[in-house]
Amino acid sequence: MKRTPSGSYDYLIVGAGFAGSVLAERLATQLGKRVMVIDRRPHIAGNAFDHYNEDGVWVHRYGPHIFHTNAQRIVDYLSQFTEWRPYEHRVLAQVNDQQVPIPINLTTLNMLYDLDLDETQAAEFLTSRAEPVENIRTSEDVVVSQVGRELYEMFFRGYTRKQWGLDPSELDKSVTARVPTRTNTDDRYFTDSFQIMPKDGYTALFENLLAHPNITLQLGVDFEAVRDQVDYHHLIYTGPIDEYFGYQLGKLPYRCLRFQHETLNQEVFQPVGVVNYPSEDVPYTRITEYKYLTGQQHPKTSVTYEFPTDQGDPYYPIPRAENTELYRRYRALANATPGVTFLGRLGSYRYYNMDQVVGQALATFEYLAEAHAGDSLA
Ligand code: FAD
Ligand code: UDP
Repeated sequence: MKRTPSGSYDYLIVGAGFAGSVLAERLATQLGKRVMVIDRRPHIAGNAFDHYNEDGVWVHRYGPHIFHTNAQRIVDYLSQFTEWRPYEHRVLAQVNDQQVPIPINLTTLNMLYDLDLDETQAAEFLTSRAEPVENIRTSEDVVVSQVGRELYEMFFRGYTRKQWGLDPSELDKSVTARVPTRTNTDDRYFTDSFQIMPKDGYTALFENLLAHPNITLQLGVDFEAVRDQVDYHHLIYTGPIDEYFGYQLGKLPYRCLRFQHETLNQEVFQPVGVVNYPSEDVPYTRITEYKYLTGQQHPKTSVTYEFPTDQGDPYYPIPRAENTELYRRYRALANATPGVTFLGRLGSYRYYNMDQVVGQALATFEYLAEAHAGDSLA
């Protein structure tokens, strides 16, 4: 039988991902609070979990996690728990028998169209193809207004339809707007000022975050199993907000992924960390080869194929107006529920990157600390 936690705590935190673990660390070390952290999975680190697989290759269980941010404050905070190794992420897209840089850049255009454009000519080339869109609302509008329909169809339409199970015209502009268009030869996926990976991995970072005597950790434990057994003053919930409320307003849609992990008896599989497959002729969206991300030297290599699906763990909130509206109604319920704070990618139904979740957890801590100071004065 699974052991269920009991005892008396200031905070019960559901979820040992970035949201829950950062908040646990702050509450324990800064306010001396007694914190219980639970996760239904058998490990810490949430979707950022990494480990050595049975062949000794260092992999990310839930697909590629690349740390990038412009926020010095977030790097300073996390640097208390990890050293870093520099890593600039590069991605190629498999288009028409060629692997070309994505984000679309000068090299992409010259390779695809067998041209020798310079930066100015590349900008003119794109302008001549771009279709003016008066009111940019959707993920189709964003791309078509920058690069025109042909490049949109080559790089974005199929990938997005696979990834989200929706046409880009049905998705908020913020989704494809994550991927810029360039006319220079910069082939980095991100341009953030910090592009770094935890030197010993994410799981080691989380071990350090949670290594405080005031923090009790229980893994393989679902909130439902303990909600009436643990004595706590305040609940921090980083799971899906609709699940917490028993889906009483209806289900918030999430996109799921099936990860197919393979280890190959060869040193290298592909030329960069990630290759995207925008064509709808293949069912997966991208292949990741982890050794680029981790810097590990190993005679074998491990890769992961991502197959988007409707079934399984909720990985991506789906940004579109009707979902945001339903989330707002759950938010209103949350606001009317004292003693519970929702955060994280699932708790706030936002397509957040890791650094944004850390930022949200630090801001939430400041809010709770002010409330705590108010209580102490009262
Ligand atoms: P999670 O990491 O999802 O943690 C929530 C935890 O709560 C989970 O472990 C879950 O098991 C637990 N939980 C939920 N409900 C319950 C319950 N009822 N009882 C007990 N436990 C529960 N971000 C980047 O910055 N860079 C990237 O390159 C990047 N790549 C990504 C690739 C993929 C495929 C995915 C899916 C995400 C990626 N992200 C990336 C986003 C990143 O994973 C998230 O921003 C981050 O992990 C969110 O942290 P979190 O704590 O909010 O949620
Ligand atoms: N996208 C695409 N083609 C690509 C890369 C991205 O159509 O080659 C679109 C797709 O809709 C994807 C979104 O842009 O979901 C955001 O891409 P990103 O790489 O940021 O996705 P994530 O790493 O969060 O899965």
